[in-house]
Amino acid sequence: MAIRHLDRLLTEGVRGDRVFVRADLNVPLDAGEVADDTRLTASLPTLRDLLDAGARVVVASHLGRPKGRRVPELSLRPVAARLSQLLGMDVAFCEDCVGDRAKAAVEKLGDGEVLVLENLRFHDGEERNDPKFAEALASLADVYVNDAFGTAHRAHASTVGMVSFVPRVAAGRLLASELEHLRVVLEPVRPLMVILGGAKVSDKLAVLEALAPHADILAIGGAMAYTFMAAHGTPIGKSLVEPDRFADALAVEQAVRDAGRTLLLPTDHVVAPRLEAGPPLRRSGEPGEHHLLERPDGRFRNRCILGGNPDRRDRGSRGRRGQRGRWRRFAGGHQPVEAGRSDHPHVDRRRRFARVRAGPRTARRDRVGSDSRRIAPAVMTGAKPMRRPILAANWKMHKTNAEAIDFAEAFVPLVAGADVDVVIAAPFTLLDRLGPKLAGSGIALAAQNVNPNESGAFTGEIAPAMLVDVGCRYAIVGHSERRALYGETDEVVSQKAVALLAHDIRPIVCVGETLEQRDAGAALSVVAQQLRGSLSEIPTTRAAEVVVAYEPVWAIGTGRTATPQIAQEVHESVRAVLSDLFGSTGAEIRIQYGGSVKPETVYDLMAQPDIDGALVGGASLDPEAFSRIVRFDREGAK
Ligand code: PEP
Repeated sequence: MAIRHLDRLLTEGVRGDRVFVRADLNVPLDAGEVADDTRLTASLPTLRDLLDAGARVVVASHLGRPKGRRVPELSLRPVAARLSQLLGMDVAFCEDCVGDRAKAAVEKLGDGEVLVLENLRFHDGEERNDPKFAEALASLADVYVNDAFGTAHRAHASTVGMVSFVPRVAAGRLLASELEHLRVVLEPVRPLMVILGGAKVSDKLAVLEALAPHADILAIGGAMAYTFMAAHGTPIGKSLVEPDRFADALAVEQAVRDAGRTLLLPTDHVVAPRLEAGPPLRRSGEPGEHHLLERPDGRFRNRCILGGNPDRRDRGSRGRRGQRGRWRRFAGGHQPVEAGRSDHPHVDRRRRFARVRAGPRTARRDRVGSDSRRIAPAVMTGAKPMRRPILAANWKMHKTNAEAIDFAEAFVPLVAGADVDVVIAAPFTLLDRLGPKLAGSGIALAAQNVNPNESGAFTGEIAPAMLVDVGCRYAIVGHSERRALYGETDEVVSQKAVALLAHDIRPIVCVGETLEQRDAGAALSVVAQQLRGSLSEIPTTRAAEVVVAYEPVWAIGTGRTATPQIAQEVHESVRAVLSDLFGSTGAEIRIQYGGSVKPETVYDLMAQPDIDGALVGGASLDPEAFSRIVRFDREGAK
């Protein structure tokens, strides 16, 4: 998920531009005064930076639920007045957010001046995402900035609709920072444990269904757990239960099982005759705490935990502290994420908690597929679908058949159950015997080259159908050694990639700059040119099957790995080219990094947002070393 940051806009320059800021000024009012200005304060960094840069800032927001009618008590006028105090400058106010009045008010703005528009929801076109209303809003803007995290999941005219009409867009400071923290949820470091509590399965069904196949461990607490238990006939006393949800609960369990994941239910309960305070409590089951989970055993060292609010009966600071303590134990000290509402700073680094602060619904809905699957799609350069990591070995001209078999016998058990794609690109002479050794392991066989022709007088060459014949599912094309030693051009690479896809073999297309090109500052342009030359004949409908390997030539076989930052910089630019070539499908294409990847370096590389895998030469020859690369998550946990 790449975010288009405000800094990019500021670097490009916004002086004299009409910058429409969709803020979240939905603050509580009391007798016509702002009762709590937390949200206004949160908007200030974006507004100040734009004003300092000489933008003509037009701020828009909703307030309350006027349902398409003009409700004077829900006017943003008092909000504009409070904003003026906070900014220490005049803030103009316009009594409408579209139409002639709004146009005239925007016209009047000078550089570095700010205007607040009237409540967007006084028009029903806002919540209906009416294209006409969206266009009317867009006519007030040269640039669009979304800084309203709390509403970013809603597909409204001001959050989604107007964006296609505005040429330049970015995320405001608040939205960008919330999304950064949400990244741990959107792109979890595995293993991922999800802890869900709450009273009813019916309230959480969408969340459960969406998370069930993704979480490595789904732990269900709260009263909701009793519906799961009762569905199996377990006695639950007078606990809350939803018999009409038994089928849903069993379906969630099945989905977890089908995905090979673990579902945990409470083993330990606190029992009381009535729910209100006072009656004596007793524990049932093993010593423990109120319907929360004990760490099952030492196997799970979760690196990311996503949980909801503390379970209902656990609320209150003692309960919450207790819950966080448990989460930390589950997490082995890593990164739990609480998707709960809080007025506290959203990251408590000391306690190693990332809290998703401003909009818990947003945090959940984006991931769990409610009415909108996207957060502020406008300001992303491409919402990142979950790209499955792909770790590929390139054995080059190494190994006899006997050595390859020994490798497979040692390697297959070492990577059993790894939740990634594993590929071995072996010399042609090994493919026929190695394939059966890998059968059933999930490890895919690959070739290191192919001839794009179907058959014919091409002495020494191998055709795509021959690779299919021995069970190849991938083939490397355009490796820098082939480009340098055998004159493989982008045009040839393109032909090979197309020919492979025609035989349902996925091409791993290599690109990368030489040291001279990097030193000349041409790394990104060289890689972009290679990509365009190698991929432009691939139809968008097949593009997601392609894997791109970025391999800086100066890092291959030299022991010099690009730093994660250098690699990410290039991968981000590769992603941009892929989006340009294939639109939204570009975000699905996996990009590997290659160049002296080692078990010690792989984790930090894989932690980069646009690095989806590794193509590994030297370190892939040894089963133990390559298995540690495949198990990069464990390397990171060391
Ligand atoms: C490669 O051959 O693709 C490669 C990256 O090699 P190494 O890992 O040895 O640098």
